[in-house]
Amino acid sequence: RCHRMLSTGHGQDEIRPGCVEKEESARMTRARRARIVATIGPASREPGQIKALAKAGVDVFRLNFSHGSHDDHAAAFKAIRGAELAIRRPLGILADLQGPKLRLGRFADCSISLQPDQPLRLDLDTTPGNDSRVGMPHPEIFRALQPGSLLLLDDGKVRLRVEKAGDDFCETVVEAGDRLSDRKGVAVPGGTIPISALTDKDLEDLAFALRLGVDWVALSFVQRASDMAELKKLVAGRAACLAKIEKPAALEHLDSILDYSDGVMVARGDLGVECLPEEVPVAQKTIVRAARNRGVPVIVATQMLESMTASPAPTRAEASDVANAVYEGADALMLSAETAAGKYPIEAVQVMDRIMERVESDPRWPGLMDAEHAGMDDVDADALVAAARKAAEAASTACVVVFTTTGGTARRMARERPLQPVVALTPSPDTARRLALVWGLEPRLGQQPATLEDVTEDAVRHAVDAGLASPGQRVLILAGTPFGAPGAANLLRLAHAPSIR
Ligand code: PGA
Ligand code: MN
Repeated sequence: RCHRMLSTGHGQDEIRPGCVEKEESARMTRARRARIVATIGPASREPGQIKALAKAGVDVFRLNFSHGSHDDHAAAFKAIRGAELAIRRPLGILADLQGPKLRLGRFADCSISLQPDQPLRLDLDTTPGNDSRVGMPHPEIFRALQPGSLLLLDDGKVRLRVEKAGDDFCETVVEAGDRLSDRKGVAVPGGTIPISALTDKDLEDLAFALRLGVDWVALSFVQRASDMAELKKLVAGRAACLAKIEKPAALEHLDSILDYSDGVMVARGDLGVECLPEEVPVAQKTIVRAARNRGVPVIVATQMLESMTASPAPTRAEASDVANAVYEGADALMLSAETAAGKYPIEAVQVMDRIMERVESDPRWPGLMDAEHAGMDDVDADALVAAARKAAEAASTACVVVFTTTGGTARRMARERPLQPVVALTPSPDTARRLALVWGLEPRLGQQPATLEDVTEDAVRHAVDAGLASPGQRVLILAGTPFGAPGAANLLRLAHAPSIR
């Protein structure tokens, strides 16, 4: 019996932990609760590099559709699925759509220099720009502008104040900035801009990403709930949908956006352009809190270890920023340029991994991380996960094992932020990969149990196999009956890892 518990058992599917030697499997179990998202780019596209990043601690890879060709993304996708086989741990893949990012046209000389109070006209003319005018191919924007409106260009480095706006032009003066070059991004702070959520490019990228089989789709520059509703309708369940909160309008509509989102991102890069810098940390706290209350996984993103694009060690402020997000109990932290284009992609992941582990070993971490414990909603799953959390606090409880089909029960368990590890056991590779983003879950593939005996045996076997339960320790099991039918968990069971004879 004991042999069966530890045996490599069944499974054609290589990412099934059942195929793995016990020791190997114990090593791939993450010691930390917070998760790492890493962006793929020229510095990390090689299959060998992707595998090394996964080994260093990446849980979810981001394919950034603002850069790179479809061929690049397809190759990375293949390499990530390959790395998953190699490390025998489910890895999530997130396709990040550029969204309705506004851009200037081009200049005849690639760029112009700017003087304070210099007039600059923006219009729909597609001929290259000069010192006095440049194209901005977004008619919707002109109609939304008024005298006094501000335009922020090139990540806020250039500020233009609108003096006059018509249907197809606006006249501005330079408030700040000394240079403007081709195709720079344009932000219009305040209000909701009447543009649709997905551009033609986004629709093409989305269709391509879904054909590849990505696990998550993120949408940039979300403004309102209907943007996410539109995305969800197009995705039609083929991937989980994540809203990037990077506009003041999205902050205003955060609650309704969360209604239509399976995940959110605190996209501090563009948020920091559209809001004042002092608003960004407050927005981060607001978004993380709101998402955790809903049980929606939340990613904190951008400039987390920015200096590591050029240096093998982070600044003290960066180490502190990463630590703060872990103390906040965010589900995941994201690396952008650090892994996409930096000189030290592997080191950046290792540093993030070490800071996370260090914070989670601080005796103050549980209290700070769970200072505002999310209350119970009146649903079956919550009644059970709250009980499981309590029961798991008993000294000899090793871990919780959740049987989950769609991932719903596992996410409710993670929302409780239990200090014991949680194994999310699912027959669905899609579910396992989506759950790779969620705080504290160890997604594992298992067979659909048919009987209560199966449930108990599988749970204990996976807990031991993952190195999360030792002989004699208590394992808490959450499952739903009838087995194999979708629906919330309704069963909480106690088992013990067998003593070795
Ligand atoms: P991006 O999104 O890297 O796609 O711009 C993140 C952010 O804006 O912070
Ligand atoms: Mn952004």
